[in-house]
Amino acid sequence: MTVSGLTVKNNMKKQHLAICPGSFDPVTYGHLDIINRTAGLFDKVIVLVSFNALKNGGTFTIDERVDFIRRCISLPNVEVDRHDGLLVDYARAVGASAIVKGLRAVSDYEDEFQQALINKQLAPEVDTIFMATNSEYMYLSSSAVRQVCFFGGDISAFVPPQIEADIIAKIKHQKGER
Ligand code: ADP
Repeated sequence: MTVSGLTVKNNMKKQHLAICPGSFDPVTYGHLDIINRTAGLFDKVIVLVSFNALKNGGTFTIDERVDFIRRCISLPNVEVDRHDGLLVDYARAVGASAIVKGLRAVSDYEDEFQQALINKQLAPEVDTIFMATNSEYMYLSSSAVRQVCFFGGDISAFVPPQIEADIIAKIKHQKGER
């Protein structure tokens, strides 16, 4: 087919795999929106809980984070995995063509842009794609969820019902409340 002098190949379809990486501590509606939209654009998506075993940070264990994401997603082309190390090493190992990152505001951009350029240098065959947040979730972050929950606020607008009680229980436990 020719459009304005450009030849558009009809046989361009190949299996495209995208990775949605993050700390997901815990997963929120903001993350899930990015994951769902990515799943509509790619043949397969791996949601990757990235961590650094040397840094012992985070509120939820890696197992809990993976489990929360699995309980919130039931799309046939989305898988959840974990990785300790360089994201591009993982991307190469699974043959991903893209890393998809959600952008909430200009403040996300500087860091994400730097990471994207470094990753491109390390693995030129993997592209980073930025997806604009849904305006409904622009304000939402895992740290905001943890903070609201810590002070006893209602987190039902931020995380799905199937994980809400477990998030509250863990944060209460960490506060020393039973
Ligand atoms: P955070 O701890 O800041 O919530 P993560 O490291 O878990 O973030 O985020 C993984 C990816 O999801 C990042 O690209 C981040 O910008 C994106 N993301 C997080 N929250 C949102 C949101 N509310 N809307 C769009 N993208 C988001």
